[in-house]
Amino acid sequence: MAKAPAHAFASTLKTFKTASGKSGKYWSLKELAKQYPSVERLPVSIRIVLESVLRNCDGQKVSAKHVEELAHWAPNAERTDEIPFVVTRVVLQDFTGVPLLADLAAMRSVAAKLNKSPKTIEPLVPVDLVVDHSVMVDYYGTPKALDLNMKLEFQRNNERYQFMKWGMQAFDTFGVVPPGFGIVHQVNLEYFARGVYKSPADKSDTPVYYPDSLVGTDSHTTMINGIGVVGWGVGGIEAEAAMLGQPVYMLTPDVVGFELTGKLREGVTATDLVLYVTSILRAEKVVGKFVEFFGPGAASIAVPDRATIGNMAPEYGATMGFFPIDEMTVAYFEGTGRTKEEVERFAAYYKAQGLFGMPAPGDIDYTKVVKLDLGTVSPSLAGPKRPQDRINLGDLSTKFAELYSKPNDANGFNQPADKLKQRYALTREGQSGDTEVPPPPPGSPRPVIEMVANRSTKAAAHTSATAPSAPKGDVTIGNGDVLIAAITSCTNTSNPSVMLAAGILAKKAVEAGLKVQPHIKTSLAPGSRIVTEYLEKAGLLPYLEKLGFYLAGYGCTTCIGNAGDLTPEINEAITKNDLIGAAVLSGNRNFEARIHPNLKANFLASPPLVVAFAIAGNVMTDLMTQPVGKGKGGKDVYLGDIWPTPKEIDDNLRFAMNAKSFRANYEKVKSDPGKFWTSIKGTTGQVYDWPTSTYIAEPPFFEGFQMQPHASDAGIQGARVMALFGDSITTDHISPAGSIKESSPAGIWLKAHGVPKADFNSYGSRRGNHDVMVRGTFANVRIKNLMIPPDANGTQEEGGVTLFQPGGEKMFIYDAAMKYMEAGTPTIVFGGEEYGTGSSRDWAAKGTQLLGIKAVVARSFERIHRANLVGMGVLPLQFRGADSWQTLGLTGEEKIDVVIGGELKPQMDVKLVVHRADGTHQEVTVRLRIDTPIEVDYYKHGGILPFVLRQLLAA
Ligand code: SF4
Repeated sequence: MAKAPAHAFASTLKTFKTASGKSGKYWSLKELAKQYPSVERLPVSIRIVLESVLRNCDGQKVSAKHVEELAHWAPNAERTDEIPFVVTRVVLQDFTGVPLLADLAAMRSVAAKLNKSPKTIEPLVPVDLVVDHSVMVDYYGTPKALDLNMKLEFQRNNERYQFMKWGMQAFDTFGVVPPGFGIVHQVNLEYFARGVYKSPADKSDTPVYYPDSLVGTDSHTTMINGIGVVGWGVGGIEAEAAMLGQPVYMLTPDVVGFELTGKLREGVTATDLVLYVTSILRAEKVVGKFVEFFGPGAASIAVPDRATIGNMAPEYGATMGFFPIDEMTVAYFEGTGRTKEEVERFAAYYKAQGLFGMPAPGDIDYTKVVKLDLGTVSPSLAGPKRPQDRINLGDLSTKFAELYSKPNDANGFNQPADKLKQRYALTREGQSGDTEVPPPPPGSPRPVIEMVANRSTKAAAHTSATAPSAPKGDVTIGNGDVLIAAITSCTNTSNPSVMLAAGILAKKAVEAGLKVQPHIKTSLAPGSRIVTEYLEKAGLLPYLEKLGFYLAGYGCTTCIGNAGDLTPEINEAITKNDLIGAAVLSGNRNFEARIHPNLKANFLASPPLVVAFAIAGNVMTDLMTQPVGKGKGGKDVYLGDIWPTPKEIDDNLRFAMNAKSFRANYEKVKSDPGKFWTSIKGTTGQVYDWPTSTYIAEPPFFEGFQMQPHASDAGIQGARVMALFGDSITTDHISPAGSIKESSPAGIWLKAHGVPKADFNSYGSRRGNHDVMVRGTFANVRIKNLMIPPDANGTQEEGGVTLFQPGGEKMFIYDAAMKYMEAGTPTIVFGGEEYGTGSSRDWAAKGTQLLGIKAVVARSFERIHRANLVGMGVLPLQFRGADSWQTLGLTGEEKIDVVIGGELKPQMDVKLVVHRADGTHQEVTVRLRIDTPIEVDYYKHGGILPFVLRQLLAA
């Protein structure tokens, strides 16, 4: 047997000792710094990535040159080096995790067909999936809400959960945290993250230890950066490659240092701080960069607050928002139930590496330094349409009034100013509380009654001086009315200081005699059961409940758009009168139609402010100067009367850090996963048998799979144009996550397969079924294919349609794609700037491939979507200079060739030849956006998945 080559940096393998005298080995960065002195001044996050490159340097996937290049990272160098980053583990949420599991199951089916052991396909690193995205707030405002919502969740998702149970028994390193435990990023903080990990012992029986690091199939994976773990969100395709042993490849990033000084003032929350950080960093343009926090202010911030700041990295555009490890991180590990051995090893390892402690100004060379004095942060919200649009609490009222009549392109709502204060009566049914109705069938809007049964059925009059009073006994709604108030999202519900603040504010409000109007949809969706436990122990939960904030579910709920519907009466009043209704939520995203299709103004705020605005009832109530509401005896109660003091929060924090509680809670993942989950029957066996299901089906990505790839680098001939798009086509335009229209190709297919409209569920939940997803590709109701001529008024048709060529017959993109594929005609999509921006959604690339689209030509691409296109074997091509499909004068009737002259190379120039209907032709040079050598290999193999499968089967 050939001897493995010696490690190029073998001398850097050293030994460290824990406080109890246990020893372990580690790849020493201090030792490496003897060869490359600049290592000692590298950003901490870069050094952690460097450790992975050093440890995995095998001369094949990771070479000595990779180590050298990263060790020479310079703050302002041109970024051309590619880093192969081998991560320690992978986390998934259920919307993205199910299709990924389906791909793994399909690979096993291929292995079995080729008479190979199915066990060849096995994740090489631990993979944990948390089921958090599926629960909806169908019920609220009742003590039964949690149970009823979970019942519906299990009815709707039974087939998906059966499939997960198959995965749990089929794969050795694949674990599932069932519904009802919490949100993936909080569970990641509290449970999955174990500090440092170890590889099997060497001959001397001393294991090698290394830092935790991960990728997750959710953009807010960056929350883990708060405890010093390097990790970020990737598309499902990249995550699959990572779990099957491929490094995550990326260009060396810039690292922006964010120096924090001073202290937060009394009354200012972590949510206020993160909204400041987001607006500052958006302006600094940190897209694709690492951000690393340092300085005395960073050292003073509690670990949950650091996690809140890390969480919103996608909102400020950074790859990560990283906090180095220090004594506070170690205390967090202790308080959340990690074992003594784990905690000791964690601290000793980072000390040995010279990576322990918050860096001071001047310690590290950053690409750029941004500064914030924490003392300047004030109470804020963000909105009404984007998370980076921060508004001081005291300015919200005037800001809303101003935006009400501003044009849409100025971020406004384009309404006549004189309508601002008008109010509209709801029908009597909208406020009735005395009729019994049965629970809704799956998929239907939730009933009016259940939610209000435990709250005052009398509508409390508005007390705001701004918003006019409702006529006595009637419920009226008007512009700026808060119709959804949700304590939701991993960003905030993992943070005891803001969750306790919400509870304390609720207590003081109830004691002062304040109430929340019953038609406001109030919900409490903590990020884990620990939150409920400490709110209960602190005696605060009953007060939140009195104001309607009953537990609605442990999951994303309102944050992922699972707010459930509003009542028909409220929906009708909004749509009939063009009302600008508001949601106030403690979430991180508020793009239009994300929270509820009829609520146009969505404000992100801290949990206590969510409660305060639910009481006030309208965002035009200026909480800095006007009463929140009328209390006992008609007395005005102001925000200052009920806002928690720092001492009140501190006194209650002791309930939040109880190591025993954390351990007891997470032991239940295995010992007591809940009655609903236990009753799910999964199939068994190493290979999935693909029972008939409209949720899970064998994906077709490996049809006709052979060990040798077909040549796929010979260019494209005679392609038809599928679509001509404008700028900023998002992944949600390409592959929507929300509701499925009955008349759409996916809706028609579901009905033909016996699924009634009420059970359509969402595209997000049907990502395990390619038949639904391919029909949903480019099916967003708002997408505009500019091939379709505008109507006489100049209005552009919306929806996923195209003109089939030749002839120009109008039809759904899916139908045209099937006709082109039947005829063996390749197709191409043209786009503008930022093609594929938005969430990292691999179905946007998978669906493109399954529609037979061979290339996307755009003026620029979003990072993850470009990589996903290559990962699915679709060519991304970028126009140069001022070129665009408009300057080429394309109408969609042309035929297109893509000519690749010579061997495929990263970023090479290729020729686009446009053949027009009149027989003329035109050539233009475009840039191939296959960016790295490994991507060339992926493309030649038809994508990452066939590439990895061939490697595994050949091994
Ligand atoms: S709570 Fe919101 S941000 Fe967090 S994982 Fe869920 S959807 Fe994503």
